[in-house]
Amino acid sequence: MCFIYLDSNKKKAHSFYMFSQRLNDLHPYVPGEQPKDREYIKLNANENPYPPPESVAGAVTELLQNDRKKFALYPDPDANDLRIAIADMLNKTGGCLNNPDTSILSDSITADMIFCGNGSDEVLSFVFYAFFGSNLPVVFPEFTYSFYPVYAGYYNIPTRKVPMNNDWSLNIDLLLDAVNGTGLYSDKGESSGLIFANPNAPTSLALTRQQVRNILDKYPRDKVLVIDEAYVDFGQESVLSLVNDYKNLVVIRTFSKSLCFAGMRLGYLVADKDVTSRIFTVKNSFNHFPVDVLAATAGVAACKNITYYVSITQQITKTREWFIHSLRKENWIIPDSQTNFVLCKKSGLQGDFIYQKIKEHGILVRYFATPGINDCVRVSIGTQEQMEKLANIMNSI
Ligand SMILES: *Cc1c(COP(=O)(O)O)cnc(C)c1O
Repeated sequence: MCFIYLDSNKKKAHSFYMFSQRLNDLHPYVPGEQPKDREYIKLNANENPYPPPESVAGAVTELLQNDRKKFALYPDPDANDLRIAIADMLNKTGGCLNNPDTSILSDSITADMIFCGNGSDEVLSFVFYAFFGSNLPVVFPEFTYSFYPVYAGYYNIPTRKVPMNNDWSLNIDLLLDAVNGTGLYSDKGESSGLIFANPNAPTSLALTRQQVRNILDKYPRDKVLVIDEAYVDFGQESVLSLVNDYKNLVVIRTFSKSLCFAGMRLGYLVADKDVTSRIFTVKNSFNHFPVDVLAATAGVAACKNITYYVSITQQITKTREWFIHSLRKENWIIPDSQTNFVLCKKSGLQGDFIYQKIKEHGILVRYFATPGINDCVRVSIGTQEQMEKLANIMNSI
């Protein structure tokens, strides 16, 4: 109210007084650019190049045409039909569309172990709220999904970033020391737990299920281990089968990447049912209807069409292998990806330079200002045709 009376050179500073200190301290996530100036081929946000199957469109159309009244009513607050459909899909695939295996989970995932939200970013926000506080730091690897530090800032949670190995793999012993406050971290005290993406972003590398089991065997039982499986469908195996053995394991997954739903917003977590019920407590204290009727309907239809999704996932991983092979022949350095993107660098080139050169040809990729990966671009895997075009461009830089 007071800025009418301010002298002009103080106006700017004073207009910030009405906002909370915590807002003034926020550093928001910057998503991959969505320019409108021309039609770009978008390979910068790890979106799926394929649409969801027609059966999903059919279910949504059916709802719009014959069940319109449902729009006037609040949705099921627990999204139960969707949780049942997700559990069924996981049990039938083992949690990895690229390498489906019915025997891995059999029927061990039940709907009460699942919590759904508006994209896994929302689920992550509830998880940060539920497990990490302002007293102890949350641990994550130095190169990781850049939303984790953003949420930590939002909730005022201190962070502890752990350096990677030289080949960008996770330094497991160092991560465990950082969690426990031992070894190199003995003067820093303990933490509230560890979160990382597996396969990791933006490195594209994955730990095996056995490696994750080894971590859990050495991990404190009274702290959470959160594993974000956003990309696991493009890899070899999920850690979901460990959830029943380790009550402190929380697995987060999304419909955005492998299920072609980035525009629809659906994500979920899988954990022990008592842990999951605590996440419902967080949700019911914030927004008790997170999944709307349209997203739930589309999501159920998606889970029922495993055949389609296995087929496009395997197409994407096949295209990825082709792309890696054709770039390595021209001296690009690329780790063995277990995701729908690859991290590429070439001696003597900076990431923003490569990005700019590719953009001139109408294709968007992503580069990072972060030291250690600022000589790389991250390229999402599109259709075979798009990747052939990109390979020609990159191999001529
Ligand atoms: C894309 C991504 C997410 C977010 O997915 P949404 O479900 O679209 O919110 C979460 N974690 C990682 C590692 C991702 O790459």
